[in-house]
Amino acid sequence: MTSYDVIVVGVGSMGAAASYYLAKSGAKVLGIEQFGISHENGSHAGQSRIIRKAYFEHPDYVPLLERAYHNWKQLENEVGTQLYFPTGLVYAGKPAGVLIKGVKESAKQYNITLEEIDQTECTNRFPSFSIQQDFEILFEPDAGFLTPERCILAFTELAIKSGATIHTQEQLVSWKQEGSSITVQTNAGTYSCKKLVVTAGAWTSHVLPALQQQLTVTRQVLAWAIPQQWNNFTLGNFPCWLIDDAQQPGMYYGFPILPVSKFGGPIGLKAAYHFPGQITNANHVNRNITPEEEAGLMKSVNHYLPNAFDTIHVSKTCLYTNTPDENFIIDFVPGCKNVLVAAGFSGHGFKFASVVGEILCDLSLKGKTELSIDFLSAMRFNQ
Ligand SMILES: Cc1cc2nc3c(=O)[nH]c(=O)nc-3n(C[C@H](O)[C@H](O)[C@H](O)COP(=O)(O)OP(=O)(O)OC[C@H]3O[C@@H](n4cnc5c(N)ncnc54)[C@H](O)[C@@H]3O)c2cc1C
Repeated sequence: MTSYDVIVVGVGSMGAAASYYLAKSGAKVLGIEQFGISHENGSHAGQSRIIRKAYFEHPDYVPLLERAYHNWKQLENEVGTQLYFPTGLVYAGKPAGVLIKGVKESAKQYNITLEEIDQTECTNRFPSFSIQQDFEILFEPDAGFLTPERCILAFTELAIKSGATIHTQEQLVSWKQEGSSITVQTNAGTYSCKKLVVTAGAWTSHVLPALQQQLTVTRQVLAWAIPQQWNNFTLGNFPCWLIDDAQQPGMYYGFPILPVSKFGGPIGLKAAYHFPGQITNANHVNRNITPEEEAGLMKSVNHYLPNAFDTIHVSKTCLYTNTPDENFIIDFVPGCKNVLVAAGFSGHGFKFASVVGEILCDLSLKGKTELSIDFLSAMRFNQ
């Protein structure tokens, strides 16, 4: 039985980053991934993920984001490839709504550059938007998108170069604390470690059943469309965007068209709805998307970007793992001082992967982190 300092279960967004920081710190690391690096069955596929700093969800995320931006830059330098693309981001919604109020509050508290623009200024800059008059519009210049598959590949490649062992197509079946060591059983072997880091995304409660009550997996639909005015939407001409919908709870969001020669597929303009979808089990996800689901997305996106979602070219499903308050869980597993969990990213976690990896490394090797993560504690739901 091979022994490791740390075993990371799930080499997706958070696990790849954790494996990288752990291996760079000199730890003997094993990363176990049930599929490949990367894949479409979990939460990280789909070409792009928004990164933004004026965080409407909670101002306490901003210091983590500052560190995340720093760490993404460092990763880019180390790997020699651009992974973060600063396009700017248009926010729109009712002035008293959760999005606009939250963005302004975080920007004010942390002095984040934010431009207030009106409807005319918005269409002068980006002619495709049609934002209703009772909406407020804000523009965050230092926001944009990350390329998730490449970020995960980059972290994993550098982890391996620093000595990490990464096993793909291997699934953790069970784990057991035995004295000061943990025994991990997979479908291919048995290993032992001093610390276990669970970054299993939508499968977290399969690995840690005690968290089942706190983690709800939902099926999300996203799509790429072919707009009538293609050039208005291309990278360089069009920003990322996030709109607090007035008709229903949740937000619509999207990205510029990315050239497939540089970014890979799918082709077209990507948009989706940020609100927990149908509850599902990560092992039994209905991947078929109905014409009604596509029509609903088209109608809503076209409301803000007339004729943009003219013809849907590709649609896919992806998984959110939601906590009751939609804030993450990053903590030691209650009652298990040698087991860490980072989960419940509630559809907004990818941008944090670079800082979450560093935090998991510090918690594993030093037992503490200098970053403030008390608001993400696993125990908060039991109080
Ligand atoms: C449609 C959609 C859009 C999103 N948009 C954004 C966005 O714009 N910005 C943003 O910041 N975030 C966004 N997110 C959220 C973000 O992508 C997720 O929060 C993030 O990817 C979660 O990372 P994770 O490591 O928890 O999960 P994953 O990246 O899915 O990784 C978990 C890994 O664990 C593996 N695993 C699980 N169980 C086992 C086991 N027993 N043995 C071995 N391996 C196992 C899985 O195969 C998987 O690879 C979006 C998510 C979705 C679905």
